[in-house]
Amino acid sequence: MSIQENIQRVEERIRKACSRSGRRPEEVRLIAISKTFPAARIREAYQAGLREFGENRVQEAATKIDDLKDLPITWHLVGHLQTNKAKRARELFRWIHSLDSVRLAEKLHQAAREGERLPVLLQVNLGGEETKSGVGENEALRVAEEVSRLGSLDLRGLMLIPPFFEDAENARPFFRRLRELRERIRAGLPQLALPELSMGMSHDFEVAIEEGATMIRVGTAIFGPR
Ligand SMILES: *Cc1c(COP(=O)(O)O)cnc(C)c1O
Repeated sequence: MSIQENIQRVEERIRKACSRSGRRPEEVRLIAISKTFPAARIREAYQAGLREFGENRVQEAATKIDDLKDLPITWHLVGHLQTNKAKRARELFRWIHSLDSVRLAEKLHQAAREGERLPVLLQVNLGGEETKSGVGENEALRVAEEVSRLGSLDLRGLMLIPPFFEDAENARPFFRRLRELRERIRAGLPQLALPELSMGMSHDFEVAIEEGATMIRVGTAIFGPR
C-alpha cells in the first residue's frame, strides 16, 4: 500500500466519522505523525496533499525540518518536551501539543521573540498513567490560568493520549472527559475559547472525531508500522 493510498483511506475514514456525527470534514485537521520515518517519506506524503506533520523528538525533528525546508509544512510537536529544549522547540515548531507544566510554559515564554505568539495545547493525563506526561484533571484549570497569563503563548485547547485499548470504543469515555474538561475550563476562564481538541490516533480517531476532535494525530495508518 502506498502512502498516497493510505492517505486516501484515512480521509475516507474521516469523512465517514464526520457524517455519522453530523460534522464537516474541514473541522478535523489531519496531522501526519512522521516520527521514525525519513524525510523522503514525509515528502511523499506532502506530494499526496498533506501539509501538517508532527514529530515527538526535537533532535530528530530538527534534521528532517532542515531537509524539508523547501516545503511550506506546518510542524507540530506532539511528544514530551524537556525545558532545556524549549528554545529550540520554539524555533522549529508552529504548534506545541505537549505542554505539560507551568515550568515548561515559562521556558517557552522566555524563549519568545518580540511580538511572537505560539499556539499551545495543554496535555492532560486522564488515565493517571505514570508513564505518560500531562497535567492531572484536577490541576488543568489552574495550569490553564497560569499559561493564559503568559503573553507569548496562545492556549488553544487540550491534548490527550488515552490508555491503549484493543477496542477503540473503550477510549470513548476518555475523549468525552477531555471535551467536558474543556467546558469546565471555559466556564472558569471565559476569556479562553479553547477551540482545539487534539485527540485520536490511527486505531481510534473515528471515535475521537465523534467526540469532538479537531486535530487527529495519525502515524501508522499513513506511514505504516514503525
Ligand atoms: C506516535 C504518536 C501518534 C501516532 O500514533 P499512531 O498510532 O501511529 O497513529 C500520535 N500522538 C502521539 C503523541 C504520538 O507519539
